Amino acid sequence: MARERQLSRRSLLGGAAAAAGAVALTTTAAGTATAASALTTVDVAVIGGGIAGLTAARDLVAGGKTVAVLEARDRVGGRVVNLSLANGGVTEGGGEFIGPTQDRIKALADSLGVATFTTYNTGKNLLYKDGTRTPYATDGLLGSVPPVDAAGLANAAIVQAKLDDMAKTVPVDAPWTAPKAAEWDKQTFESWLNANAIVPSAKFLLDVACTSIFSAQPRELSLLYVLFYIAAAGNESNAGTLERLTDTANGAQESRFVGGSQQVPIKLAATLGDRVVLSAPVRSVVQSGGKYVVTADGVSVTAKKVIVAVPLPLTGRIAFDPLLPAARDQLSQRMPMGSIGKAIAVYDTPFWRADGLNGQVVSDSGVVRSTFDNSPPDGSYGALMGFIEADQMRAYDASSTDEVKAAVLKDYAAYFGDKAKSPTSFVLQRWDNEGFSRGGPVAYAPPGVLTEYGAALRKPAGGIHWAGTETSTYWTGYMDGAVRSGERAAREVLAAL
Ligand SMILES: Cc1cc2nc3c(=O)[nH]c(=O)nc-3n(C[C@H](O)[C@H](O)[C@H](O)COP(=O)(O)OP(=O)(O)OC[C@H]3O[C@@H](n4cnc5c(N)ncnc54)[C@H](O)[C@@H]3O)c2cc1C
Repeated sequence: MARERQLSRRSLLGGAAAAAGAVALTTTAAGTATAASALTTVDVAVIGGGIAGLTAARDLVAGGKTVAVLEARDRVGGRVVNLSLANGGVTEGGGEFIGPTQDRIKALADSLGVATFTTYNTGKNLLYKDGTRTPYATDGLLGSVPPVDAAGLANAAIVQAKLDDMAKTVPVDAPWTAPKAAEWDKQTFESWLNANAIVPSAKFLLDVACTSIFSAQPRELSLLYVLFYIAAAGNESNAGTLERLTDTANGAQESRFVGGSQQVPIKLAATLGDRVVLSAPVRSVVQSGGKYVVTADGVSVTAKKVIVAVPLPLTGRIAFDPLLPAARDQLSQRMPMGSIGKAIAVYDTPFWRADGLNGQVVSDSGVVRSTFDNSPPDGSYGALMGFIEADQMRAYDASSTDEVKAAVLKDYAAYFGDKAKSPTSFVLQRWDNEGFSRGGPVAYAPPGVLTEYGAALRKPAGGIHWAGTETSTYWTGYMDGAVRSGERAAREVLAAL
């Protein structure tokens, strides 16, 4: 039997009061929301309560529209999540860093009163290669480039400059129209690197950069997509560069959010009050009489327009009637999520700092090949965060947490010494195993996809509009791209309503 539920998630949203004008949604007993009486009408239904969906909802509400955000999980934030530590602290299991030219996420955080602090970057980085640890300064002539042999460094510099130059010819709003789009989209990044990064140590540096940025191997990515991603690592007045993607100081890893990155979507959701419905995985979107009936487990909403703000491949898990245009569905079939996890080991102190190390590693072996110092701003305890990426993550997707922990701590000990073997706690977040993400940080394009299907990325399907970081022009794959995509989708809908 249908029952009215004024959806209240005050505890989940940090004590936020319900916003004025909240939409009263109607629910039925779990999973049986089919009766016509169970429908509530809004102007816009937003599917997905990640940063993109919430941003779109904020702008629609500001534009005077009624909105319901249907979020599958029992929390907001999607690929951004705060994880509680046994010592009372908080760490981040997903998106975490922001940097220069990521103007929209910064503006959003500022508007919500979420402050940033500089990522710990004092002391030397570590290169771990062929079983040897080499600490290196990042303020020398080489900047942040790990000190491989001279021939490799020279080759890597040429490759990097080439990639940046090629990226300058790729329009961020239509990479498939780049003059050499066809040539670049029919090869993998791997095949291009094999022809250009000819010194083995240069190839190593580019491979590590690739897996760190995409959580995918170079063999999986279209060269055109990599160039688009580089072009997107900037803003309207600053061309994107590979360096901005990889760097900590002056790069995408420059800053973190006080209290953890999920503060941003949590506080944003709080401004939307009961318009945000949690634990409501959308199963179908049915067009009927010029409106859309969006049905989630236990909740149905009728809306004039729909914004879909879920990870791109997950669009295909929602049943659309009528079917989506073939090109849009093919796109979601052909852009898989990267494979990624984060392993955070917590210690009483950030002991590596006393050894003159900043906690950042670049490695050619192990399950974790890239690390950061994830300690809180006051350094009151230590946290080492390691990325588990691409082939390494896939190798451990089915392993137990204890097995992953043993492998990770072996790596941390090789990088930072025996003290690393004894954390006070250990947190593991595996995105491939998250039902409403199925990987991360982003859905990427293998060869042939952008040129054939790219034009379908943002093209509305009737009254269905597309948000999500994958649909952003600048900083696609990042929190900033998620904000930009939500703002753009809301503009489209406001113009159409
Ligand atoms: C390990 C990791 C590290 C990262 N590091 C960084 C970083 O340092 N800096 C950075 O800027 N970015 C980083 N990112 C990327 C960043 O987190 C994402 O780009 C961004 O959060 C995407 O936001 P979104 O709203 O587009 O998508 P999502 O956050 O994926 O939100 C989509 C929402 O849709 C929901 N959903 C899915 N299916 C349904 C359905 N059927 N019905 C209803 N809801 C549904 C999901 O639960 C989710 O809440 C990282 C990501 C990962 C995984």
